[in-house]
Amino acid sequence: MKVFLVILFFMASAQASVLKAPPSFELKNKTVVFVDVKTIASKIKYDLDSSSVSVESVIKFEQFSEGNPAFDLTPDASLVSLQGEKLKLENTSLPNNTSTVRVLNKNLKPGVYELRVINQITKNVRFISEGVKSAFWMSDLSDRRYLEQYLPVNLEYDQYKMDFEVEVLGTSKEHQIRTNGEVTEVAKNKFSVSYPEYFTASSIFFHLMPVGSFNEESFTYKSIDGREIPVTIYSAGSLSRYLSQTKKILPELEADYGPFPHNSVTIYGAGSGGMEYCGATITSLSALGHELIHSYFARGIMPARGNAGWVDEAIASWRDSGYRQYSTRSLSTSRMAGHSVYRRTTDRNAYSKGARFMGFLDSKFSDAGGLRPFLKKFKEDRLFKPFLTKEFQTDLEKHFGEDLTQEFSKYIYGSGKILSREEHGHNPFHPKLTEKELFDLL
Ligand SMILES: [Zn+2]
Repeated sequence: MKVFLVILFFMASAQASVLKAPPSFELKNKTVVFVDVKTIASKIKYDLDSSSVSVESVIKFEQFSEGNPAFDLTPDASLVSLQGEKLKLENTSLPNNTSTVRVLNKNLKPGVYELRVINQITKNVRFISEGVKSAFWMSDLSDRRYLEQYLPVNLEYDQYKMDFEVEVLGTSKEHQIRTNGEVTEVAKNKFSVSYPEYFTASSIFFHLMPVGSFNEESFTYKSIDGREIPVTIYSAGSLSRYLSQTKKILPELEADYGPFPHNSVTIYGAGSGGMEYCGATITSLSALGHELIHSYFARGIMPARGNAGWVDEAIASWRDSGYRQYSTRSLSTSRMAGHSVYRRTTDRNAYSKGARFMGFLDSKFSDAGGLRPFLKKFKEDRLFKPFLTKEFQTDLEKHFGEDLTQEFSKYIYGSGKILSREEHGHNPFHPKLTEKELFDLL
């Protein structure tokens, strides 16, 4: 019995991230299956002579049921091979056209495999006099805007160890990488970068540039758990207000939600934009607090798919509003978590309706301490484990000892009749930047 339980445990932990994957589906006589990526090792070469960037990635993955495995990569690959056999990663629509993924044109039995992919990076790369600037900017508001814009990866439910080998060729100018991984400078302009194994396609902050491209200040933040956390802030403009704000916001967040979840803080004070990464952000000054709380909610506790993305935006926006409380009169129906299981983006109602829902829960349970102590516990219990909306609901119900089925079906799953259309409004903290604006922030 014991042996059996142990085996079950190992099976469960090996498959854990796949359990949060959307279901397999049939398409033109094939079954598309979602897999568990174990590791991705990518060699990224910036070649100044040809003004090009090539990436060669080796993806180790495990497949638990027979079918054609799905990954994602938005640029076309120039080479795809599985254990030496040349294949293709075909653009494939997910059911109801919710999104697109890349599906391998080969049916595989359950097992462990190694896939090799070569592609070029053309997005957010700028070759300048004797140097190159490149960033892996992302967005959670548009489809397929995570790391798949640059490298082959899996969908957001999956976590795996990523390692980069980065080389800048054809220049004597010294370069550096600002990132939320561990960087080792192997030789001049040659780096190895290692990321933690809980990272997903939305976790990595990566910005390569010639040394001296920005003003920079660093300091050490003493966390409430005793860690000395290195903080780096850089900007083309003045740093002083980013510095003073960061020194206020980090203790505020730790007082509410416990120790900062990451081992470093990297802030690119770009003056505009606003996007969160694990322990890092590109941000305007006004969005700094919003982006830093996302290191707890979004990149600390992690949504497994689009339908869970509303939780972190609702929490961050609720903080932006000064943690206001709301009664049911301020709530409106939504289907923030009621979209297709294949959806990969966050419903923008999260900023308004979602934030008010958090304020409603805070008011409803104020006698039991309110929502923030629950959120702190939620973060502690589920740190770095991708979650679904139903788990957020179950944890709330357990914590407060009350059934919330009605509230969730009306305001979150949109099970009722009256539904306004999804909002496409502008959020001050996540303005949707154009491709040109993102390029200009390199
Ligand atoms: Zn946000």
